[in-house]
Amino acid sequence: MTTLSFPITVDEQGYYGEFGGAFIPEMLYPNVRELKENYLQIMAQPAFQDTFNKLLKDFVGRPTPLYLAERLSAQYKAQIFLKREDLNHTGAHKINNTIGQILVAKALGKTRIIAETGAGQHGVATATVCALMDMPCVIYMGEVDIARQAPNVARMRMLGAEVRPATSGSKTLKDATNEAIRDWINNPTDTHYIIGSVVGPHPYPDMVARFQSVISEETCWQLQEVTGSPDPDLVIACVGGGSNAAGSYYHYLDKPQVRLIAVEAAGHGVDSGESAATSVLGSKGIIHGSRTLLMQTPDGQIIEPYSISAGLDYPGIGPLHAHLIQTGRAEAVSITDQEAMDAAFHLSRTEGIIPALETAHAFAALDKLTFNPDDVIVINLSGRGDKDLATYIEFLDQF
Ligand SMILES: *Cc1c(COP(=O)(O)O)cnc(C)c1O
Repeated sequence: MTTLSFPITVDEQGYYGEFGGAFIPEMLYPNVRELKENYLQIMAQPAFQDTFNKLLKDFVGRPTPLYLAERLSAQYKAQIFLKREDLNHTGAHKINNTIGQILVAKALGKTRIIAETGAGQHGVATATVCALMDMPCVIYMGEVDIARQAPNVARMRMLGAEVRPATSGSKTLKDATNEAIRDWINNPTDTHYIIGSVVGPHPYPDMVARFQSVISEETCWQLQEVTGSPDPDLVIACVGGGSNAAGSYYHYLDKPQVRLIAVEAAGHGVDSGESAATSVLGSKGIIHGSRTLLMQTPDGQIIEPYSISAGLDYPGIGPLHAHLIQTGRAEAVSITDQEAMDAAFHLSRTEGIIPALETAHAFAALDKLTFNPDDVIVINLSGRGDKDLATYIEFLDQF
């Protein structure tokens, strides 16, 4: 794990350019400060790295394969490699981060874990590592989401977590986040709050990016073995908060010859009023403790995002991505529900891999991009599609 090299670093206050920082209620200062003052040093300890790497190998199943998708490559006249995060234990990249954070929590002497979840994927990944580490786990989830995501709620409970409904406001993710913050304020000494993406106050975006950087670290040596160079021409990833994208870009951030493609969910279309394409529709503001791009009304009310995929339906993007897009280092592409659905069925029938709906957005971007013949393209296959079968079934007649 090369967690100590970070080509685009946050400054002392947690900024990537003008985005980031830590905008939190004063009562949270001690919790966030404790984390900020300790996370790098904890992560650098050989014993920490040893445990982290062992768990990634034997519990998660890393390294994940880098698979040359031959039929897709022939169709697009490029060399398309799939980074198989879908083969991780629990079916997506999220477990890389929850393992890392629970080890940080233990190193800080914490004995209790809280998290918030929208679609339930981060809740399941958190409940999984809490079972593994024998730590009590409380997952906050909006009442509406609890009803919508019954299988993931059942998984969390089976793993021993307590799922607490957030009953205020729209009863969705942002209300669950408020409840989790309230809990953390009330339990500052024994509790660690595991955030699930590269969002939230500093140091979370940097810490989560470092844990997810194992994705590009592996990609470098895997590509080197097959092509003779660690560098692809393009890396494509979907962006909800941006953690799988941050992880798959990480070791290429300071290599401008590697194009970084950030794929957002356009929902019914960027101009439809039902979208989650933050880089197009967003403006600068503060959400979940950091300054970034977010979808808001002129007077600063958050606009409810929409996407068919629950994991991309977030009104902001992590500050790293706001910076990468604003500076032109990353190119943003937006993909509608229908385009993502087409891509999900196409990948299933071309390569025998059913992707998560979030991930399908990344594949749909192939039709929006121009690249040179024989370009080496890495697509981060962030998760598998089992969780989305109920949605896919509704579209079977179309295909
Ligand atoms: C949660 C999730 C995402 C979106 O989250 P990021 O932090 O943007 O990576 C993407 N793909 C899958 C499979 C997910 O579960």
